[in-house]
Amino acid sequence: MENKYKHIFFDLDRTLWHFEANSHKVLSNIYNHFNLEKNIKNPDVFIEKYKEINENLWTLYREDKVSKEELRGKRFTDTLAHFKVSDSMLGEEMGDYYVHHSPRQTELFPNTIKILDYLKDKYQLHIITNGFEEVQHIKLSESKIADYFQEVILSERVGVKKPHPFIFKKAMKLAKAKSNNSLMIGDDWYADIYGASRVGMDSIYFNPEKIKHNNKIDKEIACLSELQEFL
Ligand SMILES: [Mg+2]
Repeated sequence: MENKYKHIFFDLDRTLWHFEANSHKVLSNIYNHFNLEKNIKNPDVFIEKYKEINENLWTLYREDKVSKEELRGKRFTDTLAHFKVSDSMLGEEMGDYYVHHSPRQTELFPNTIKILDYLKDKYQLHIITNGFEEVQHIKLSESKIADYFQEVILSERVGVKKPHPFIFKKAMKLAKAKSNNSLMIGDDWYADIYGASRVGMDSIYFNPEKIKHNNKIDKEIACLSELQEFL
């Protein structure tokens, strides 16, 4: 079926690269590597608390209230503090371990390679990501999907994060794309879907957990393989 699209912009984390699975693996390794069982009996309790603290800090990072450098160690130092361990040195070491190992994990969402193979000859594929610059390229190459993408647009390079219109405009300029022949695919309604709508770009909301919502969307999928139906 013919459609108007020439360019497809993908989000990376939680859309192609399986952030939760990869992160969980590294956090389990951290629990063992740093002998946390002395102070925290259950690794799952540690991981749950870390995720909660990390998420709150990411909200502050998105609002530019916490710097990237602060975020890295602080999310672990704060988690340790919750379990009555006051050790910011350890927190920093855990932060370094996480930042080194996390992007080297390679789990992708089901059918990622299959759908990229299907799309690559019909469209130009690109990435727009709010993730940290030095790790996003590692994720792409380690998980063996780097070669599918022409342009990788990083918020840190551009200076603003999704959903700021400027990052989408910059992405289209680099890709020589126009909003009327571009499509954004991402899991974050605010950053990806609302962001795309602000520059007049169509979008597909990736909602693998099928979470109920009342957000305004063009289209929604729960599995990447569904893209074949209309692309
Ligand atoms: Mg995402």
